[in-house]
Amino acid sequence: MIKKLLARKPAPKWGESIVFYCKDCEKTVETQQVGRKYVYKCKVCGTKNVAFGTPRSIKGFFHIEEEGKK
Ligand SMILES: [Zn+2]
Repeated sequence: MIKKLLARKPAPKWGESIVFYCKDCEKTVETQQVGRKYVYKCKVCGTKNVAFGTPRSIKGFFHIEEEGKK
């Protein structure tokens, strides 16, 4: 019932709280979506070696100390 609904974690909103991290560039980058799949290409180097997640999870996982610059 209600408990079940609350147990489900809300999915992150795309384009809002998601950042992309290129493992080749070793930094967060802009990406281009490939097809309709959840595959993203780095706009800087062109590889698909891109991870994505919330800024906090990406920074934690890849140990990024630098704050995002815009
Ligand atoms: Zn790259």
